[in-house]
Amino acid sequence: MIPYGRQDISQQDIDAVLEVLKSDWLTQGPKVPEFEHAIANYCQATYACATNSATSALHVACLALGVGPGDYVWTSPISFVASANCALYCGAQIDFVDIDLDTGNMSTEALAIKLEQAAQQDCLPKVIIPVHLAGQSCDMETIYNLAQRYNIRIIEDASHAIGAKYKNKPVGCCEFSDITVFSFHPVKIITSAEGGMATCNDAALLKSLQRLRSHGITNKQEEMTEPSHGPWYYQQLELGYNYRMTELQAALGLSQLQRLDEFVARRNQLAAIYYTRLSEFPIEHLQQSEDCLSSYHLYIVKLQENFKVGHNQLICLLREHGITSHLHYIPIHLQPFYQSMGFKAGDFPNAEAYYQQAITIPLYPTMTSEEQNKVIAELGKALCD
Ligand SMILES: *Cc1c(COP(=O)(O)O)cnc(C)c1O
Repeated sequence: MIPYGRQDISQQDIDAVLEVLKSDWLTQGPKVPEFEHAIANYCQATYACATNSATSALHVACLALGVGPGDYVWTSPISFVASANCALYCGAQIDFVDIDLDTGNMSTEALAIKLEQAAQQDCLPKVIIPVHLAGQSCDMETIYNLAQRYNIRIIEDASHAIGAKYKNKPVGCCEFSDITVFSFHPVKIITSAEGGMATCNDAALLKSLQRLRSHGITNKQEEMTEPSHGPWYYQQLELGYNYRMTELQAALGLSQLQRLDEFVARRNQLAAIYYTRLSEFPIEHLQQSEDCLSSYHLYIVKLQENFKVGHNQLICLLREHGITSHLHYIPIHLQPFYQSMGFKAGDFPNAEAYYQQAITIPLYPTMTSEEQNKVIAELGKALCD
């Protein structure tokens, strides 16, 4: 079976993890800070804070920016549910901004209109979470300028986009955001099995992220409310969580990071071949902006509207021929849980139209030419015969 995505673990990755297993530290040792520095350095951000998943990074990022009951957070309906759930964890309300049909990313036009309406109704969001779908950055400069006008903070959900660039800078540099979050789940660009990272350029934000990921506890004297009682002493200053990354995960992530550029180059190579060879098929590609270098976490194509073969039929046909394709994503607002909060079909028409047309075809760095040829051939049979 050809999967839609898969990790690539080398002997060097395995050795890096084994070395940690034999060391004194399985958690809270030197590898996590080393991984954090390496990611901050790669992304040209000042700071990075590792967590045990992108979901927990999104949660502490919202908390660090002060999201709580009575606040609104806005994100894209075409994302994994974690992009929206993080607001609800904080007791805040979630709302969505419809997508741009060409890129699948948050529409800046829809955002501008929604902000204007929200300003009139006095219900502006505290935080906006743009999601870089498939590895292509959103139009961050426009989103940032809009957010500045209304004093709104920004968290980039870059779970798909480590190794990507926007306006010649690495995604994660936070030039147009407060915090950027990455995921190292095995299906993403590089993996630490489970794991996440938040980058930022603000020392106070970093401190907040670090404290929240570890029970709200500090052992730094300068943060304590009274003199230390002794070497065992620590203080809990707020309600935090155990969202720490282990040393094993950090070692794997660090080792994988060495091949990040190679992975992204290979993904781009495979994507370019898809782009050329699928152009004759009755499908559309997600439009790529000249401002962006995508890390191509996913290769998403869209079937023409009302085409004789629907997405369900196509995905089943491909599976019968040993190819796993997928669909990213079911619009979040149509999930039963979100519908129970009052969202309904028709709320975000572009996201819903996209859902009827999109499919994700296989793309991963170890994909061979034979595998890619097979995907292209089977797609051709299904769509063109
Ligand atoms: C994978 C993903 C997440 C969650 O990542 P985890 O590391 O599995 O918690 C969040 N947002 C998006 C867009 C994702 O693709």
